[in-house]
Amino acid sequence: MTAMDFTEDQIRRYARHILLPEVGAEGQARLSRSRVLVIGAGGLGSPVALYLAAAGIGTVGLVDDDVVDLSNLQRQIAHATARIGMPKVASAAEAMRALNPEVRVEAHATRLTAANALDLVSAYDLVCDGSDNFATRFLVADACHLAGRTLVSAAVLRFEGQLSTFRSHRGGEPCYRCLHPAPPPEGLVPSCAEAGVFGAVTGVLGTLQATEALKEILGIGESMSGRLLLWDALAARFRTVRLRPDPACALCGPAATIHDLSAHETSASPTCTVPA
Ligand SMILES: [Zn+2]
Repeated sequence: MTAMDFTEDQIRRYARHILLPEVGAEGQARLSRSRVLVIGAGGLGSPVALYLAAAGIGTVGLVDDDVVDLSNLQRQIAHATARIGMPKVASAAEAMRALNPEVRVEAHATRLTAANALDLVSAYDLVCDGSDNFATRFLVADACHLAGRTLVSAAVLRFEGQLSTFRSHRGGEPCYRCLHPAPPPEGLVPSCAEAGVFGAVTGVLGTLQATEALKEILGIGESMSGRLLLWDALAARFRTVRLRPDPACALCGPAATIHDLSAHETSASPTCTVPA
């Protein structure tokens, strides 16, 4: 779609975007041609999916193999009490279509695995990771680097959140493994069920994640690539630290040892270690 093809309704729907010189009709048309993959339809994935749908992203893919549970609803705002028991991807798709019937939702009611990750990631322009466990986070990070896709990654725990963008495939920019070389030992980081999470914190981080994804697609503003945003909700403080490429990185360094996803084939079933 080009800017010339907008209908009257589309011009009204996206009027507040089109007014922005940084977006305009051309930027809005670019959003409508874009494909974004959202990993996890939970606390982070809910606001990400809803804001991407509202913004007029043409196609949003959702990956999640879980069903809606009563205990999700304190933070997972794409779902509803009436949809308890429904697959999360179907529930979130319903909320997205109610908000914007024009968005094409591709619901992948499956777990991301070493066998399907590269195909899924390659089918989209950009990936937002809102998964709730380290096994999936490392799999997404490796798949995005190998497939040459930009990754906007966010995580939350208790009252804290962090966010960064990884574009290591471009060269000279850090990847997720430059920040975290390997998953922490099982049990070291408490699970969401053990540690808890303040619901609105996932909303803030997911909304930041959607904002950064839209910025990357539009090519506007300053990228979060090379920077890590840290937010402490109790202290009400945001902080940004510099991230640099690690020359010893096993994924993106000059002596990289990770060239495919085979190392993920043996990893055990993921446990919930970074709650979303
Ligand atoms: Zn790296």
